Amino acid sequence: MKTFVPNYYKEFNCIAQKCKHNCCIGWEIDIDEDTLSYYENLKGKFSRKLKQGIEYNDDCACFRLDGKGRCSFLNEKNLCDIILNLGEESLCQVCSDHPRFRNYYSDRIEMGLGLCCEEAGRIILNQDIPFSLVLLDDDGCEDERDNDDFGEYRENLFEMLNDPTNTISEKINQFSTYCKIEIPKLSKDEWVDLFLSLERLDDYWSVVLNQLKETEIGDIEIPEIFNKQFENLLKYFTYRHITVKGDSEVFFFILTSYHMIEMLCKMHIKNYGDLTSDYIVEYCRLYSSEIEYSDENIDEIIEILYKNEP
Ligand code: SF4
Repeated sequence: MKTFVPNYYKEFNCIAQKCKHNCCIGWEIDIDEDTLSYYENLKGKFSRKLKQGIEYNDDCACFRLDGKGRCSFLNEKNLCDIILNLGEESLCQVCSDHPRFRNYYSDRIEMGLGLCCEEAGRIILNQDIPFSLVLLDDDGCEDERDNDDFGEYRENLFEMLNDPTNTISEKINQFSTYCKIEIPKLSKDEWVDLFLSLERLDDYWSVVLNQLKETEIGDIEIPEIFNKQFENLLKYFTYRHITVKGDSEVFFFILTSYHMIEMLCKMHIKNYGDLTSDYIVEYCRLYSSEIEYSDENIDEIIEILYKNEP
């Protein structure tokens, strides 16, 4: 089986203590069975602390979070005590994978970086060269492709998104026509109310949403210098979420997400007078952590806006 990754994949390295939004804060991390058994059977100095930092729920075990939502093993320098004491190879699957994701197909695995990590977001959104896939690994086993026309279908989408002769708004229109999906014509306040009704991870998301509600963005345009970031955003969503042909709910989610992030950037321009690629990365990171990484929230958006059209 071959494993493919985007051409920028190898640029990623976790920036650890330099990270402003450490992924070891606020997330409940499930420990896979093999790692849990290794932790439970560990002997030695660190083993007591390790066991105390694990909590057991009905169907899984996870790392205990402190009152501020920090993982028990994230030390005061924002470094991981498990890595420091036992080495990186002792991390559980979720910790060693993050922010990478995997999509499984019959003949290959595709991996990528997730937008909820600020460093991954910076790499994904600031790419200057067209998106392409490169081979990361090949175990030598050949598997049959059982979904032949999906490859061509997705290639057409990427061809459209990579086309340098079209503006980003033309690409969005083409994308929407290609998938025959239109985003609902809601007012900005209705969008905000919908997102405020969803489960929220970080209070800062509520602050940003309320700020959007209070800001008049009608006449604001995103400067063309940021076309690249928005195009890369669309490519990221396409690569990560379109895994079968013609899944209209996924297309709907992508267009809705794009629209929401665009509104947040317009709000930023209106309130602060300018925009930078770092702020675009930050709004994408925030959106991704709150919405893209929550299956419940994605389902809720689709249920309310798509299945029961308002
Ligand atoms: S969010 Fe990304 S850069 Fe920050 S600590 Fe996690 S993996 Fe590292």
